[in-house]
Amino acid sequence: MSSSKYIFITGGVTSSLGKGIISASLAKLLQERGLSVTIQKLDPYINVDPGTLNPYEHGECYVTEDGAETDLDLGHYERFLGIATSQANNVTTGRIYQSVINKERRGDYLGKTVQVVPHITDEIKRRIKLLGARYKYDVILTEIGGTVGDIESLPYIEAVRQLKWELGPGNTLVIHLTLVPYLSATGELKTKPTQHSVKVLLETGIQPDILVLRTEKTLTRDLRRKVALFCNVEYDSVIESINVSTIYEVPLLMQKEKLDAIVIRKLGIKSSKNPDMKPWKEFVSKLKHPRQSVDIALVGKYVELADAYKSIIESINHAGAFHNSKVNIHSIHSEDITSQNVAEILNGMKGMIVAPGFGDRGIEGKITAAQFAREKKIPFLGICLGMQCAVIEYARNKLGLTRAHSTEMNPMTPDPVIDLMEEQKGVSEKGGTMRLGAYACRIKEGTLVHRLYGKTLIRERHRHRYEFNNDYLKEYEKNGMIASGINPDNKLVEIIEIPNHPWFVGIQFHPEYSSTVMKPHPLFIGLIKAALELKAGDSKGSKSKKMYTASTR
Ligand code: GLN
Repeated sequence: MSSSKYIFITGGVTSSLGKGIISASLAKLLQERGLSVTIQKLDPYINVDPGTLNPYEHGECYVTEDGAETDLDLGHYERFLGIATSQANNVTTGRIYQSVINKERRGDYLGKTVQVVPHITDEIKRRIKLLGARYKYDVILTEIGGTVGDIESLPYIEAVRQLKWELGPGNTLVIHLTLVPYLSATGELKTKPTQHSVKVLLETGIQPDILVLRTEKTLTRDLRRKVALFCNVEYDSVIESINVSTIYEVPLLMQKEKLDAIVIRKLGIKSSKNPDMKPWKEFVSKLKHPRQSVDIALVGKYVELADAYKSIIESINHAGAFHNSKVNIHSIHSEDITSQNVAEILNGMKGMIVAPGFGDRGIEGKITAAQFAREKKIPFLGICLGMQCAVIEYARNKLGLTRAHSTEMNPMTPDPVIDLMEEQKGVSEKGGTMRLGAYACRIKEGTLVHRLYGKTLIRERHRHRYEFNNDYLKEYEKNGMIASGINPDNKLVEIIEIPNHPWFVGIQFHPEYSSTVMKPHPLFIGLIKAALELKAGDSKGSKSKKMYTASTR
């Protein structure tokens, strides 16, 4: 193809309709047609990136290989497409303004008045085109965050309008995602919100080419015709997106609705290849019809909000499907855990993940959970802060350092087994200053993680300030906790494990950012396998126990 085609995805009526999933699903279908695709998310908030946001605000902060702290939709893109995204794939209003203001301070605008139009809109257009400048993609999808009509979104919508005009007919497409609510009182699906939302878009000078309608009920032909007529789109460009039990069904649904076929027709892309979704279908079928199940505890402090641990939950789902197993994830609030109730709260769990996090809220609960997993031989995966908790627990209960802690939680601890990196000591700014992105890790041969990864050099993504304190390493190794993964460049401990435990791994990095549908992460695969084995062992044990207890029940 001569030059990249651009698809813009906007949203109307309400937020949270799943623009990210629709975008990722369409991109997947185009990719399976043999096209090179990438997706970008434009976020209309003023934070420069979501790194400084509390997970309660917008859910998890996703980290790319190049160390960008980004919106969680990029996680969906990577999980669906199996491609790496980068800083250029997520742009916020804060970042746009920051570059415009920096240019103004440098004098780049040569005395002109700097304004939203054209300076901010030009910068938005530059960011949209930046992806295509680095690599010649066939199709670039740009998801515009927020809802049309929002004050914050206006410059983005204006930039899309201009780009549509500049790139000319046949080179861009606008897909608008709306909601068709069902009124149970009258038993009807209502199209008026969609009509209004399209009108708002028209007022900004954009005629959408395709409408994707989120709905609880099947759309009738009449309803589709009505929407097509009143919103000025072709009949076949009214696409139904009905509620499904898993997000991974959406690409299959969109294929059934022929979204990809309509897109390539409208963009004049010649692609004779139909998307081969067979492996994807197999994954969905395993996910929906598991042969077994297992219970896993996810111990964290943002458990009220499922999006806060999005990538961890999806990584567990990928690994569960790999083993043909449903994984019942029990989200447990670390603040609720005490040494008195830990056995009761974690009763029946065949595996445990202690989640990443910041600050001391709920920290003792996480440490107690790690101790329980170690002592009761429950498969354990500690991620980032979760690994640090396992290290603190081991110091307190196995090395006799009863007041050991991380200096993040207690700067005065006599035994700072987790401490600030030297280069972090002078850092006072919070945004973008952690150890971020992919770093190499050398794995020791013969260890559990070596068996899991099947290699000795890996690269994994980081997002933290504190580190295992190497002053204590010898003491740990003498007492049964080993460093099985080390950063070859600066010797930082990246992985710890306990060889005389069936499955106990702590990692300073975040494996959840790199698990994809087609390539589940080895650590999650290993954890779920160990949990299933524990369950199988327990049920063998309990069967024989039952013979003795049956009469007493
Ligand atoms: N708060 C810890 C640190 O900064 C862990 C961070 C995390 O879990 N992502 O090192």
